[in-house]
Amino acid sequence: MKLLQEKIKQEGRVLKGNVLKVDAFLNHQVDVFLMQQIGKEFVKRFSTEQITKVLTLESSGIAPAAMVALELGVPLLVARKCKSLTLTDELVTAEVYSFTKQETNQIMISKQFVAKDERFLIIDDFLANGEAAKGLLDLVEKCSATAVGIGIVIEKSFQNGRKWLNEQGIHVESLARIASLNNNTVTFVVEEMK
Ligand code: 5GP
Repeated sequence: MKLLQEKIKQEGRVLKGNVLKVDAFLNHQVDVFLMQQIGKEFVKRFSTEQITKVLTLESSGIAPAAMVALELGVPLLVARKCKSLTLTDELVTAEVYSFTKQETNQIMISKQFVAKDERFLIIDDFLANGEAAKGLLDLVEKCSATAVGIGIVIEKSFQNGRKWLNEQGIHVESLARIASLNNNTVTFVVEEMK
C-alpha cells in the first residue's frame, strides 16, 4: 500500500533491535485518515471471505481493526492483555510472548462474544515472529470458531511470523512488507515497490 509505505518512510524511526517506531501515526498518535484507507484496503483484500467479526489485540491493533469492522459493518472484538474487574464472564485465554516487551502475557476474550459459527478476520499492527498471531489463532480455535485470515499493517518479513503463517495455510495480507531495517533504513520487499 503506497500511502502506508510513504508514511513509514517519512515518519517511521528505526530503533535498536530491529524495532520500527511508528508512534507518529499508528502506536501512539493515530492518523485516522490513514487508518480509514487501511480499513478499506483490508476489506478489498479479504472481499472473497465471509466475515462475521473482526478480532484484534489491545492496544495498537484497535485503530486499524476498528476501521475494518466499520467498513465491513461487523462488530470488533478486542482481546485483552490484563484481567480486569469487568471481565467477569467465562474467559478463553492464550499465551503471547511480546517481542517489544520481552515477556509472556496472557490474552483473553469473553466466550459470550463469540457466536456459534463465528468467522473472524484477525487484524494486528505488526507481524514479527508471529507470537501475537499464534495467540489470537489459539483463542479462535479454543472457541471452536473460524479464522478466515490475518490482516497485518506492517510485516517485518525478515522475521519468522509470515513463514509460519504461510506454512499453516492461513490467508495473510500485509499492507507494508519490510525486507530489512539495516543501517537505520527501511527497505520494503521488492514486489511492493512496483
Ligand atoms: P510478533 O508477535 O509477531 O512477534 O510481534 C508482533 C507484536 O509485537 C505486534 O503486536 C507489535 O505490538 C509488536 N511489535 C513487533 N515488532 C515491532 C516493531 O518493530 N515495532 C513496533 N512498534 N511493535 C512491534
